[in-house]
Amino acid sequence: MEVHNVALTISAVGPKQYPTNELPEIALVGRSNVGKSSLTNTLINRKSFARTSSQPGKTQTLNFYNVEDQVYFVDVPGYGYAKVSKSEREKWGFMIEEYLSTRAQLRGVVSLVDARHAPSEDDINMYNWLLYFDIPVLVVATKADKIARGKWNKAESTIKKALQFDNSKSDFMMFSSVTKDGKDAVWGWIEDRMAD
Ligand code: GDP
Repeated sequence: MEVHNVALTISAVGPKQYPTNELPEIALVGRSNVGKSSLTNTLINRKSFARTSSQPGKTQTLNFYNVEDQVYFVDVPGYGYAKVSKSEREKWGFMIEEYLSTRAQLRGVVSLVDARHAPSEDDINMYNWLLYFDIPVLVVATKADKIARGKWNKAESTIKKALQFDNSKSDFMMFSSVTKDGKDAVWGWIEDRMAD
């Protein structure tokens, strides 16, 4: 999609604040620092629209970005801060679960993992949870520019193995916000989900 107009419609903590026009939604999830803001900014052709590396301790919200009045990108706060308290983690869990498991217009989830490492336990839990709820998942391996192209296949198989990747229910792509590799492919996946 050619993107010119993007607006942050709302930062929501619960369903009462979700947008009421019924545009399709694509959620983006991943642990903090995985490159979620960078991916979002790449997709919408901006340098720093989505916040990068939001700080722990700040209010955790679901940020609904209206993209060209055609789709919402829903930025789900990153998981895996070592420092957050148990009660904050529980609040986070409830907010995410409530959104992902009940939202009718959610068409798919882009789940980000770091291309250089095996997925974390949180990454694996999130992946399984999304499949359990029958939500189409695109696993995106970020920061692909940090590994040699000759090692991309190896990285892909390490990630897929750890996730016990299900090819019938999910897709996989390598991505770099530095080189923009994967940008068109990720957009292609999103547009397919929007059309579903
Ligand atoms: P977020 O916390 O998931 O939103 O992560 P950010 O998008 O803020 O990225 C975290 C850090 O990783 C920042 O220093 C980014 O510049 C860096 N980063 C993100 N994506 C890439 C990428 O594709 N390649 C490289 N080399 N660095 C990246």
